[in-house]
Amino acid sequence: MSTLLLNREAINLDIEPATFEANTLNPFGWRVGKLKLEIDREGFRLLNKKGRMVSNAGWHELEELKNEVRDKGRFSFHGTIHTGLNDVQALIRVGLNDDPNEWIRLAEIFDKLPPDVFGRKCPGCSGTVVDNVCRNCGQTFTGQQRRKGMKFILIGSILLVLGIIVTSATYNSSSGEMWLFFGPILIGAGLIIVGLIGLIFGTRV
Ligand SMILES: [Zn+2]
Repeated sequence: MSTLLLNREAINLDIEPATFEANTLNPFGWRVGKLKLEIDREGFRLLNKKGRMVSNAGWHELEELKNEVRDKGRFSFHGTIHTGLNDVQALIRVGLNDDPNEWIRLAEIFDKLPPDVFGRKCPGCSGTVVDNVCRNCGQTFTGQQRRKGMKFILIGSILLVLGIIVTSATYNSSSGEMWLFFGPILIGAGLIIVGLIGLIFGTRV
């Protein structure tokens, strides 16, 4: 069976409902909130300690699932956080407790997912994007990344030039003092580098 048709019908997974004690992780990997992770054949849900649903995702709609469960007891994905007031799109990091047996238990569930789940999805058709090309509808994202790279370079150049102008404008020739606007100069230089990478390689920036 082709895994190109990754939709609700095509994913028919042999996953028994399972529950895990988990935590949300901040970008440094620190635990910032207790969660309950509920998994079944449709997907998974994250509940906070009051039992309110924080986020849920079907296997077919998962984006950028990064699976480090077996080695590090954690995974991350792009999903929607239901704050109670509104929905926020974010990279959501989930870590299990310290028990490595729990890591293996979850890793064995993730092993059952088709490889297509672990990747980028086409915004047009939800097909899997490999090397910037959607394998389902053929849309290419290289141009999009290049345009984004150009935009980064433009913004970076403006910041860089502004930083230099402000720095030289504040130059006091009598005392030799000069205000260095390092912030915009550094951010500008960073954006130019990131933009160049996007422009040259067409990679996601
Ligand atoms: Zn597509």
